[in-house]
Amino acid sequence: MSAHVASGDTSDVVVSRSPITGETLRTLASSSSDDVDRAIADAREAFDAWRVVPAPVRAGVVRRLGALLTEHKDDLAELVTLEAGKITSEARGEVQEMIDICEFAVGLSRQLYGKTMASERPGHRLMETWHPLGVVGVISAFNFPVAVWSWNTALALVCGDTVVWKPSDATPLTAVACAALLRRACVDVGADPAIHQLVQGSVAVGEQLTDDPRVALVSATGSVRMGRAIAPRVAARFGRCLLELGGNNAAIVAPSADLDLAVRGIVFSAAGTAGQRCTSLRRVIVASSIADELVDRVSAAYAQLRVGNPFEDGVLVGPLINANAFDTMQTALEKAQSDGGTVVFGGSRVGGSDGDSDAYYVTPAIVRMPAQTSVVEEETFAPILYVLTYEGLDEAVAMHNAVPQGLSSAIFTNDQREAERFLAADGSDCGIANVNIGTSGAEIGGAFGGEKETGGGRESGSDSWQAYMRRATNTINYSDQLPLAQGVDFG
Ligand code: NAD
Repeated sequence: MSAHVASGDTSDVVVSRSPITGETLRTLASSSSDDVDRAIADAREAFDAWRVVPAPVRAGVVRRLGALLTEHKDDLAELVTLEAGKITSEARGEVQEMIDICEFAVGLSRQLYGKTMASERPGHRLMETWHPLGVVGVISAFNFPVAVWSWNTALALVCGDTVVWKPSDATPLTAVACAALLRRACVDVGADPAIHQLVQGSVAVGEQLTDDPRVALVSATGSVRMGRAIAPRVAARFGRCLLELGGNNAAIVAPSADLDLAVRGIVFSAAGTAGQRCTSLRRVIVASSIADELVDRVSAAYAQLRVGNPFEDGVLVGPLINANAFDTMQTALEKAQSDGGTVVFGGSRVGGSDGDSDAYYVTPAIVRMPAQTSVVEEETFAPILYVLTYEGLDEAVAMHNAVPQGLSSAIFTNDQREAERFLAADGSDCGIANVNIGTSGAEIGGAFGGEKETGGGRESGSDSWQAYMRRATNTINYSDQLPLAQGVDFG
């Protein structure tokens, strides 16, 4: 696992800055085109040997990685806070998620099941086998700088693939730390460290992974804009894509809802991580009869949220990642107001005396909207919660589904009919549909991903591993006859 990051022949750099203060932490050399080419070549070469190591033996690397992550959980979480601005508890949660997926992948290594099907021919057996796919290119976003890598890498390695990782150029140091831990895991268990390669840089590095035919699967997490650029390029070379793109997640709050629970679920999902999760709650669709009460209660809860340095005890909302995120949020708020919306809480920059620093803290905003206008249909990656009202559940579900994205969704209700309707074929059209839980904070055991512009990919638990393997269908004739399928007679 070489870190092709500092060959010296690069023209570009990657700057790690902390959103907490805006200060530069470290400047790294970006990977050159030659570096990326070499990383892919090394991963492809390592694949030839790795694919024939038995899966439960391959799991040894992932087991060791999980142990090292457990040992260094606090250190890695601190780096996540420093570079991505997450509060300590959420940063530790992100590392815990890495440990959990390692555990899952180790168990999975003995469960890469293929099916045996009934053959229509006597003396024949029909079955399928799952084989390693090849080099997996992992492109990840800034807001889950370490967990997304581990979801992909733990599964890919157990499945017999090798990995080339391009992290977000906003979070290069967390990537160096993860790569170092995996290298150590490889050395400790006697595996070839070349099974994992780290390349650093911005879009051009991602594009090189996208276009290289030696990269069998491009697993890309980020904005819809990025997915729109990548998908046709990978398709043009008949490669595989696993896309985890933006969400525009909503919760329906029905008249029967337990409002204490709904308020808690809404506040964590909408304001947590300063609204910078793909699953962040962006829309509340509430029955008009309880809308005023709900908005009052969520506003009161927002007023209690401490915004500030994510290392400080009691702070629940850290900084936005950069000035661009702040500007995008302000533009969306202006647009919402010009569409007839009313900002009922927050939205402004916190820390007036720091106004000229390069750190951007905001009070999470609540905006009541008269209708789901175009700004509500977009994902603004900041803490803005749009509130819309409905009269009947059909109207609520229609409004819920009338956005281009389809990641996560929720309903708060104590009416079983409403809950089941929301989960049914004509209910939520998202990859994740919850009842009496907010939209964010998924467990690793389920398949994670979404529909429509969210890209259709599934990662993490359930049978997501199948995306990292190729399926072969085998027919074995153990008779001395050669019967043809469908009763065909060929002389
Ligand atoms: P981004 O799209 O700007 O960048 C994501 C990654 O893609 C980065 O590594 C970037 O360098 C790379 N990239 C961008 N354009 C590319 C191109 N044309 N070719 C190749 N690589 C390219 O996203 P971001 O700002 O880092 O993250 C926020 C976005 O990610 C949000 O939209 C959020 O919803 C989404 N996200 C989705 C999930 C999910 O699982 N669905 C998880 C986390 C984040």
